[in-house]
Amino acid sequence: MTPSLHSPTSPPDYFSNCTHCGFCLAVCPTYQLTGDENNSPRGRLRLWSEEAAGRLPQDEWTDFYTAECVGCLACETACPAAVPYGEIFEHIRHEHVATHRFSPKLPLRLAAAAVAYPALFNLAMLPARLLRSAGLGVHRFLFPGRPAILKSTAAYAGELMHRHRPTGPRVAFLTGCLMEAAFREINFATVRVLIENNVQVIIPGGQGCCGAFQEHTGLDGVETLRERNRRAFGPLEVDAIVSNSSGCGYALGKTLPPDKPVRDVLAFLGELNPVRRHRAKDDATRVYVDLPCHLVHGQKAPGIPANVLDATGYRWELAPNAKDCCGSGGVYNIQKPENARAILAGKSAFLNEAEGSPVILATSNHVCMMQWHSAGATGLVTRPYEVKHLIQLLDPGEDFSIPPASPQS
Ligand code: SF4
Ligand code: SF4
Repeated sequence: MTPSLHSPTSPPDYFSNCTHCGFCLAVCPTYQLTGDENNSPRGRLRLWSEEAAGRLPQDEWTDFYTAECVGCLACETACPAAVPYGEIFEHIRHEHVATHRFSPKLPLRLAAAAVAYPALFNLAMLPARLLRSAGLGVHRFLFPGRPAILKSTAAYAGELMHRHRPTGPRVAFLTGCLMEAAFREINFATVRVLIENNVQVIIPGGQGCCGAFQEHTGLDGVETLRERNRRAFGPLEVDAIVSNSSGCGYALGKTLPPDKPVRDVLAFLGELNPVRRHRAKDDATRVYVDLPCHLVHGQKAPGIPANVLDATGYRWELAPNAKDCCGSGGVYNIQKPENARAILAGKSAFLNEAEGSPVILATSNHVCMMQWHSAGATGLVTRPYEVKHLIQLLDPGEDFSIPPASPQS
């Protein structure tokens, strides 16, 4: 049986599956950057297991190589022995923070404390919403967008539900902490797309941060956040619980029981065959689709459904190495900015030569969007391009109606 997170099960139990085959090395971004075995999944597992077995004293190099891991989980997908690397890493990271072997940067510790109080976090992020809404790009991670300043996604969804009265499946929507506090225009677009597709949208009260922030930083408090969401989502009788952020969806999925699976909103829409957007024939837009690590390696989704991508009405293709990490890693680009930039440099180089006018880099995780935006803001990409959430490419805008059901449906 796989041990639960932070259980007293001794770490060597986790490590026994590793056969040292090395299949994970080729997919590991930190190994690819450095060529250092210690900076690979196999190397890290060996360091942790040797230390746990008492054969290796606690060492600052173990701390260093632990902190180097992006947490992308590509090694989990590549591993033929099903080593639960993500669980092990989360266990070790919390242990390192708890024993002061690693300390997250101060802004992250402050943010981690604030996300536990959604109202406070929303207030703290008011300047970010104001700046973005005014069209002022003041930070490499703040991609352009026009979020509502005061109106919440819950209030907006209530208005649209009342106006359009959809009759199809009922979903509970995780609005997220950073997503709601800084990037809520994506939440609004998600509500519009769902309702246009005749989906009834419920925004459960009492929901909060999924806990991914604490997971990424190793800070305490994750169980409190998880329990809050278990109370908010657990009792609901809905057809699906959906998230528009693959990292948040992955974290919430680990929180709720198996009979309450969390769906990525794009996968859910794929089953509905979403309303298609129509573009001008001479539209030269090209969309390059990147796949977030927590979608393909965390949620183990095969990708984003082709009928959803087709429904954008744009000519699209997968970005080169779409399943590789962009370097975001939740908060890795703040903890380890040099590494994150080096990983992004390799991944984003194609944009300089990409065909299309305009060129759109589209993905389905807001922290990946922040990282992709930084490629232009820091000079890695020198031509103009836009960063979008895929749901925004399906957005009907404010003035829409629910199409009549076709005879076959
Ligand atoms: S792929 Fe899995 S079994 Fe092979 S070395 Fe990596 S973690 Fe160990
Ligand atoms: S999670 Fe990513 S960065 Fe960390 S060891 Fe696995 S592949 Fe490497």
